[in-house]
Amino acid sequence: MTTDQNDNDGADHFSPAIDAHTHLLPSSLTEAIRRALTGEAGWEFSHPVTRSGIEGILTDAGVSAYVALPYVHEKGMAADLNDWLCSQAVDSDRLIPFATVHPEDDDVALLVRKAFEQGARGLKFHCPVQECKPGDPRIQPALDVAVEYDRPVTYHGGTAPMFEESPYVGHDVFAELVASYPDLRVCCAHMGTFEVEQFVALAREHANVYLDTTFAMSTEAEETMGFDPSSIPDATFVDLSESIMYGSDLPNIPYPYREERAELLARDLPADTYRDLFYRTATRYLGFDRESGDAPPTSQ
Ligand SMILES: [Zn+2]
Repeated sequence: MTTDQNDNDGADHFSPAIDAHTHLLPSSLTEAIRRALTGEAGWEFSHPVTRSGIEGILTDAGVSAYVALPYVHEKGMAADLNDWLCSQAVDSDRLIPFATVHPEDDDVALLVRKAFEQGARGLKFHCPVQECKPGDPRIQPALDVAVEYDRPVTYHGGTAPMFEESPYVGHDVFAELVASYPDLRVCCAHMGTFEVEQFVALAREHANVYLDTTFAMSTEAEETMGFDPSSIPDATFVDLSESIMYGSDLPNIPYPYREERAELLARDLPADTYRDLFYRTATRYLGFDRESGDAPPTSQ
């Protein structure tokens, strides 16, 4: 692969980018999540939590669209949160809202249908926090609606950073989901850490299985979660560039936003691989490639 001299500049490889994993929530909810993370992991956060603050960071970095992933730890909260996030997207030129439900909610299928009709682009589940396996029977009606609407589902489905004892995460329960839903596009966040090899194998075997780089590929991953991103070889990103997409966890990251992509950009991967990781794969995951006249924003 020949690359233009100018392409050696990391900024050129990154932009325009889609950030497939952020968290825009009402400020009070973000503050509560941060208090929990600070208490459990010792992380300190300084990024702004408002939409304008988050979008300022993303715009400066060259991110043209970002996926906001909601999740709730109690029943009865999802409908309002989904409404709120979809309403935030109405006057944003780059926010792509997802929706969530709690496994204990009444009629999860109806909640998801309403959210999709309001503009939610996919679903998010945080398995250890919501105490449900990826294919838990209680959320299957929600997954069925995602299949019906051809919408993707992003999971916190790995054991990192503090869920190694949780029965709700891991490659084994994720593989059960994949076996049950062969037509559902699913993403395991954080490269599937701490079971990267098994999740990479799943992505190799199944075209509908995606991974995101969030947190796991940051330059701070060793420090913050005890994971060495260099343990994943370049070849994995080259081979699976159509299955791996960039994400950040903004604003809940205890380091500058640029560190989220710096490790990947330092690898000198082929330009095509970078375009996939930073943009094209998310476009396909989100289904924008299959809808004429419906593309993610590309403005900067
Ligand atoms: Zn996250």
